[in-house]
Amino acid sequence: MAPMHSIIDSHLQQIEQKGRLRSITCTDQPGNGYVIRNGQKLLSFSSNDYLGLSQHPNVKEAAIRAIEQYGTGSGASRLITGNNPLYDTLEKTLAATKGSEDCIVFGSGYLANIGTIAALMKKTDLILADKLAHACLLDGARLSGATLLRFSHNDAAKCTSLLKKHRNHHTNCLIVTETVFSMDGDLAPVQELHELATQHDTWLLTDDAHGLGVVTTTTKSHLQMGTLSKAVGSYGGYVCTSKATADYLRNTARSLIYSTALPPATLAASIAALELMQSDTSLAARALENARHFTALLNLPQAQSPIVPLVLGGEEKTLLASKTLEQAGFLAWPIRPPTVPSGTSRLRFTFSALHKTQDIETLADIIKREGLL
Ligand SMILES: *Cc1c(COP(=O)(O)O)cnc(C)c1O
Repeated sequence: MAPMHSIIDSHLQQIEQKGRLRSITCTDQPGNGYVIRNGQKLLSFSSNDYLGLSQHPNVKEAAIRAIEQYGTGSGASRLITGNNPLYDTLEKTLAATKGSEDCIVFGSGYLANIGTIAALMKKTDLILADKLAHACLLDGARLSGATLLRFSHNDAAKCTSLLKKHRNHHTNCLIVTETVFSMDGDLAPVQELHELATQHDTWLLTDDAHGLGVVTTTTKSHLQMGTLSKAVGSYGGYVCTSKATADYLRNTARSLIYSTALPPATLAASIAALELMQSDTSLAARALENARHFTALLNLPQAQSPIVPLVLGGEEKTLLASKTLEQAGFLAWPIRPPTVPSGTSRLRFTFSALHKTQDIETLADIIKREGLL
């Protein structure tokens, strides 16, 4: 058997030969939507901090106060001694926001999805996932051991035919989708999927990572999952659900039980950010308006969320386009396979409440002038 080192080297070379080698670039975030990379200051169109709340003075202040009161770490898993009182406030706030009986906060959105899906679904069960569902939804499905089938993107009819064909051969069934798709910015037919789920004695899990605080897609789904690391500007994941399901997850979700609780400052920042979102709805409106201004300037289909993909197809072409924008002072990160399907490489623009109309117009002008469309 080849030694581990040579296997790693050869796999790494294969990635490089495909032009898909990625590296992690040091990125300083001085605020106001700017980043500094390799000594260059760029206006970022690649952050999920849609409302700029990670830099908001109230949010920072709340985090600082929590550090002063509780220190930096939580010390243990939530089930042992790490359950800071701030968890209670945060979970009640999220449950109220989502209109659910109960809520559980996990260490991250990723941990929420893998923990929840793997706890609820078993080998004899069926999971139907949208073709473009986020990697951690699929990882959760795989971890559960349930049968995983995919339906074409946002295709409720296809989901129906899978239910008709397969539902009866399984004990429980779960449909999983994102509310706002992370790489495309379009919205799922959540209402339709919910009705389908009800008709077929199936549950629906909606991943609202890119919805909360930015685009409201009301659902009565059984499991309303999301993250605190995007528009909320902090860190952590959550699942809003019934009291009984939440209690079951507290007892069985391994990513909750066997992982240390979030730092108190992180919880305090989330609470402060959620308060700001509720008191100032113009923030969310501005992020979406900015995206719509951009799509109007470029004659693209109207943005449905602050995420606007410019699908260029080839990987090389997308890398070059990103470089061109970088030289003009804008960060628009190229998204390539395996994050998106082959042949659909894209620049993914995310608009925030912090972007100025003038900046969006300059960006659109450069895209037109350089023929990047
Ligand atoms: C970002 C994201 C997650 C993961 O959330 P984290 O809190 O970053 O771990 C899950 N689902 C979707 C759709 C996401 O975009």
